[in-house]
Amino acid sequence: MLLAESLNRLGTETAFDILARAAELQRQGKDIISLGIGQPDFKTPPHIVEAAIKALRDGEHGYTPAQGIVPLREAVSRDLNRRHGVDVHPENVVIMPGGKPTMFFAILMFGYPGVEIMYPDPGFPIYRSMIEYTGARPVPIVLREANEFAFSADEVLAGITPKTSLIILNTPGNPTGGAVPEAEIRKLVKGLEKHPHVTIMADEIYSQMLYGGREHVSFLRFPEIRDRLIILDGWSKTYAMTGWRLGFSIWPKALVEKVVRLAVNCHSCVNAPTQFAGIAALDGPQDAVHEMVKAFDERRKVIVPLLNQLPGFKCVDPGGAFYAFPNITGTGMSSKELQNKMLETAGVATVAGTSFGIHGEGYIRFSYANSTENIRRAVERIGKLLIEN
Ligand code: PLP
Repeated sequence: MLLAESLNRLGTETAFDILARAAELQRQGKDIISLGIGQPDFKTPPHIVEAAIKALRDGEHGYTPAQGIVPLREAVSRDLNRRHGVDVHPENVVIMPGGKPTMFFAILMFGYPGVEIMYPDPGFPIYRSMIEYTGARPVPIVLREANEFAFSADEVLAGITPKTSLIILNTPGNPTGGAVPEAEIRKLVKGLEKHPHVTIMADEIYSQMLYGGREHVSFLRFPEIRDRLIILDGWSKTYAMTGWRLGFSIWPKALVEKVVRLAVNCHSCVNAPTQFAGIAALDGPQDAVHEMVKAFDERRKVIVPLLNQLPGFKCVDPGGAFYAFPNITGTGMSSKELQNKMLETAGVATVAGTSFGIHGEGYIRFSYANSTENIRRAVERIGKLLIEN
């Protein structure tokens, strides 16, 4: 076979491997508590499911425009106006099959040999994977525990060179739960004025999951960068719709035609009934979202103190998403070692920090998208493991 050499540079998302291993252990009869995969343990609200069923019954099963149906793009505009107080024209909205395709296309567009792309480390693993795939040079934005895993605007700005084509930012962040304060975002936006050649991709997929009175500051609020800003957002986390594959993205006018062309070449369009479900989600009652976020907040308040009681663990308070990212260096084990021991011996699935970049060494990601009871049981089992070790 004459395979493309670039395939050797493609990484992956190990959370899926852990999910598979946990399922295998479960098949063998082991009781596994899953704190590994990043997906809400709630059901998609019924009115959203009904909207998709109705759409199918109404005969909505053909192709749609690649950019997404107009009523859905209009619903996205209304949603962004409600949430961020910004005006986004439906022409700038591109509907995607999930959040991931937005990063895939943005990185394909801005990545090629000779340029640099900055990305968060620890961060969502697909950023670096895709940057390397394109041949661009990956430049990490190191997220530090001491800074509650928020990026430092000064450090980001200092990392920009004439070759920087794209900066990827993610707040609230996976895997850390870090939420960047408004002042830092403002500082970054101000500094970016001096670097007009740089495009920004802000991954705001966890934008509705913030705790402790924190508020999401969307990059859309800054008109001075709107002509070089790509927003990644979607339904997966907010509406418990990970398996539906529905996301939206906002693009500057100059890039819309290009990304739609990529979509036509790739997936043609998102399946029609799911797009109707997306309208019901945005325009319908938001109670289910608020209840889910409240439940996550309660679990956060349970898991963080419990993790802090484990010998060798130290966990900062995560401001958003549904992840805790404790420092585990005090256990004397590497992230991978502890991840494997917790899964194989204690029956608790988590993800080693190194799955999110080299700066994730010394940390473990716990997804608290599980019941408080299971969280307590999991931490108890880990406590036993650490004492017996
Ligand atoms: N961005 C971040 C930061 C994520 O954590 C995830 C999923 O875990 C995604 C994007 C992808 O979301 P989707 O499942 O909608 O493709």
